[in-house]
Amino acid sequence: MQVKADLHVHTTYSSDSIITPEALVFYAKKRGLTAVAVTDHNQVEGARKIAAETDFLIIPGIEVSSQDGHIVGLNVNEIIPKHLSADETVDRIHRAGGVAIACHPYALFKGSIGKSVTAKFDAVETINASSFPFRSASSKAEKLAERFSLPRVAGTDAHYGPVIGCAYTLIDAEPNVDAIVKAIVNGQCQPFGGPIPFSMRIKNQFRFFNKYI
Ligand SMILES: [Zn+2]
Ligand SMILES: [Zn+2]
Repeated sequence: MQVKADLHVHTTYSSDSIITPEALVFYAKKRGLTAVAVTDHNQVEGARKIAAETDFLIIPGIEVSSQDGHIVGLNVNEIIPKHLSADETVDRIHRAGGVAIACHPYALFKGSIGKSVTAKFDAVETINASSFPFRSASSKAEKLAERFSLPRVAGTDAHYGPVIGCAYTLIDAEPNVDAIVKAIVNGQCQPFGGPIPFSMRIKNQFRFFNKYI
């Protein structure tokens, strides 16, 4: 089977997102996704709550602010402390039973991890629909995945519901969390999609949106 998943979405449990659990499921279904990874900043409460409230397939995750940059952990149900080194953060994600993804490794203004990525990571997010500048960040991320022979995934880094699904990963797996993360580690996945349309970009930057509108 094939799972179509946006592997990087923030909910209202991230202080900078306006995506409620209801909106998340609504837009994910509207876009024809079959799974969404909830990856709030440094916490797992939102993912837990949404997974309990809906029948839609939620991959529990976290986006950890390591001292070297952001790292997404998928299939993680516990808080991984922030401000540890990238190396230690990846170890902690693995010990928690998760997979570590180098998210938006070269995007500007995002706490990107760049040079601290090692072969210890499980995958590289080569398409992050929110990254800027999109093309150069994506091509550098692609080269990084190539250098370490790491699987490639995609996600939107959505902070605003309608952008969910602009980028997504097709994963050859049965629709359950264990099978999905195993398939990602094995490289049975492919990234798709592009940047968030310009008209939606400002709304996706919730802090900015909130301040000016
Ligand atoms: Zn990030
Ligand atoms: Zn993010």
